[in-house]
Amino acid sequence: MAEMGLLGMSFREEFGGAGMSVLDQVIVVEELAKHSMLAANLWFVPVFGGGYLLDQFGSKVQKEYYLPKMIKGEVLPTLGIAEEAAGADLSGVRTEAVSDREGYILTGEKIFVSLWKNADLAFILSLVREGKQIRDTPAC
Ligand SMILES: Cc1cc2nc3c(=O)[nH]c(=O)nc-3n(C[C@H](O)[C@H](O)[C@H](O)COP(=O)(O)OP(=O)(O)OC[C@H]3O[C@@H](n4cnc5c(N)ncnc54)[C@H](O)[C@@H]3O)c2cc1C
Repeated sequence: MAEMGLLGMSFREEFGGAGMSVLDQVIVVEELAKHSMLAANLWFVPVFGGGYLLDQFGSKVQKEYYLPKMIKGEVLPTLGIAEEAAGADLSGVRTEAVSDREGYILTGEKIFVSLWKNADLAFILSLVREGKQIRDTPAC
């Protein structure tokens, strides 16, 4: 997939991607899924899931470090969204991230995490607690 340019097709060109659209990605995942659900999932989770989030919302330092490696297939990300009470309806997410001096401490339990055995990096959807308050926007 890396050799075919599929791993970086949607990332911004400044980080080595091809800057292609969401529709392009939908076409790729449909074509992969026609032949193999496994291949489609292997592409979907790291690229459309994790990589797309990083490209859209990551810091410049994170993007410069991870995106070129993801494009070459050297870093495999995964995605932790679903929970026991949060499948299609993500208002059920209960995982919490609490900030401390060095970053965030995550508490919670995710299910259905594809590629978890091989992943180098995980994007986890969680609520963010600051003091006693939960921030109104969840974060990854
Ligand atoms: C091959 C595969 C790989 C996956 N990989 C990952 C992964 O890497 N990381 C990850 O986090 N998750 C992963 N998942 C899980 C996926 O995110 C969940 O399966 C999906 O979010 C749906 O959740 P659910 O199966 O609990 O279905 P449910 O939430 O129980 O939904 C069942 C049905 O009810 C409908 N429904 C549910 N709630 C509502 C509502 N409030 N209003 C209207 N309709 C509703 C849904 O549309 C659906 O038709 C994977 C799933 C599959 C099949």
